[in-house]
Amino acid sequence: MSTQLPIYDVAIAGAGPAGATAAYFLAKEGKRVALLEKARFPRDKRCGDAWCEPALDILEEMGVLQELVDAGAVQFVRSGGLVSPGGLSFVSPDEGERPSAPRVAAIRRQVCDERIARAAEQAGAELIEDAAVTKVTLDDVWTIRCKDGRGFSARCLIAADGAKSKIARMLGVVTTGATSAASRQYIKGGTHNFTSDGVLLYPPYAIPGYVAFFRHSNGDIDLGCYLLPGGKVPPTKLKELLQSEVVNDPFVREVLGNQAEPLEPPGISPLRLGGEPCTSGERFLAVGDAAGQTDPLTGEGIHTAMIAAKIAARVLHEAFAEGDLSARRLEAYHWAWMSAFGRDFPISAAAGRAVSRFPMLLDTAAMAAQRHGAGFMDNFGAAMTGVKPKSLFLSPRMALPLGAALLRLSLSRRASQYRAGPRVERATGLSFAENALRA
Ligand SMILES: Cc1cc2nc3c(=O)[nH]c(=O)nc-3n(C[C@H](O)[C@H](O)[C@H](O)COP(=O)(O)OP(=O)(O)OC[C@H]3O[C@@H](n4cnc5c(N)ncnc54)[C@H](O)[C@@H]3O)c2cc1C
Repeated sequence: MSTQLPIYDVAIAGAGPAGATAAYFLAKEGKRVALLEKARFPRDKRCGDAWCEPALDILEEMGVLQELVDAGAVQFVRSGGLVSPGGLSFVSPDEGERPSAPRVAAIRRQVCDERIARAAEQAGAELIEDAAVTKVTLDDVWTIRCKDGRGFSARCLIAADGAKSKIARMLGVVTTGATSAASRQYIKGGTHNFTSDGVLLYPPYAIPGYVAFFRHSNGDIDLGCYLLPGGKVPPTKLKELLQSEVVNDPFVREVLGNQAEPLEPPGISPLRLGGEPCTSGERFLAVGDAAGQTDPLTGEGIHTAMIAAKIAARVLHEAFAEGDLSARRLEAYHWAWMSAFGRDFPISAAAGRAVSRFPMLLDTAAMAAQRHGAGFMDNFGAAMTGVKPKSLFLSPRMALPLGAALLRLSLSRRASQYRAGPRVERATGLSFAENALRA
């Protein structure tokens, strides 16, 4: 160990939502924290920019959400829904704030990530930018080296360096590569036809993945395509899919119209899904995408990263108090995030496989939503966005409407086959709202 290096209680590599949230809560507990970020803020991060309720709760706890709302940077999702593979849609109109609806908001990562990192700084963490961690070694404490030659020393290390998980892989804690991918393209406000806040389109070419539209407070839309495990198209073919099926999709075309002005070409980034089996070690934790804490059914990982970061801070605080930073003690972190949300991941993965095999299940969900309205969608949304466990789908309030819709759909398809008429018509872009109103 070099005695020249400043010694921190915790060094965190990566100041995304995972690293910055961990830094915030550790600093609040009085720990000396170095938050090392390879970029300089404001830095962009490809994302659908959809912040689910558990993330919004933590942003609120940090005082970040109110600041962003005051700055006009938050678009709460009040109208939205889904379009199923068979073309059934449910898109709720904006009825103002409904207490039963799970909160989701579109906030640019470029803005929100910096606000979280600054909140961590205000809480006492040292934010060190342009600090790309390239080498970490553990003797009695960690020595951390950056690309530009700077060095730091810390009693404990958190890898929060995103889906490539370079640090955890370097240490042999994580052994796999990221296996899924998603894209983002911003479209300029006022040049498209999208009037909802958020719509998920499940076309047959992408399921169990989807195409998502989220509208920002300035009217720009974030258009993303998520390829998730179990689909027909492998994530390595996402670029080709964007250039063929997605641009030619009638729904996408109608939403974009002829005047849509892209603000950037579509860009692709990896997703690490489903939770890594090992996320802790001697004086070490992996948090967020570095630990694969992204839902395999939705590709969403901001809120899970932030929940896990809060857990990591609590476990480390307790372990410091006990003077025990051993691998065995820190395993408590792994089991705590597993119990908070990780046990849902196998259910999500199984649901993805089921939807991929039986796309009609999504038609069923859209039909149940058309019949039972926003109340059904609130529960659907709560399970999809981590507010409630995925087992909610098996509860009577979800399973009964879904079962009834499945029966109705099967009967109507059988009848239409019998009459040799058209199957359920695939929705085109703007007609989805009419579908919703007709329902
Ligand atoms: C296209 C796309 C769309 C998505 N859409 C959504 C969505 O709408 N909602 C949602 O909840 N999730 C979404 N996700 C997932 C979400 O982006 C991640 O789960 C989330 O960013 C995880 O946060 P994190 O802090 O773990 O990692 P990141 O946000 O990736 O942050 C990692 C940080 O580490 C830094 N870093 C990397 N290497 C080093 C290094 N060696 N040294 C120092 N710093 C380093 C990076 O610069 C970065 O700031 C999407 C993902 C993709 C790819």
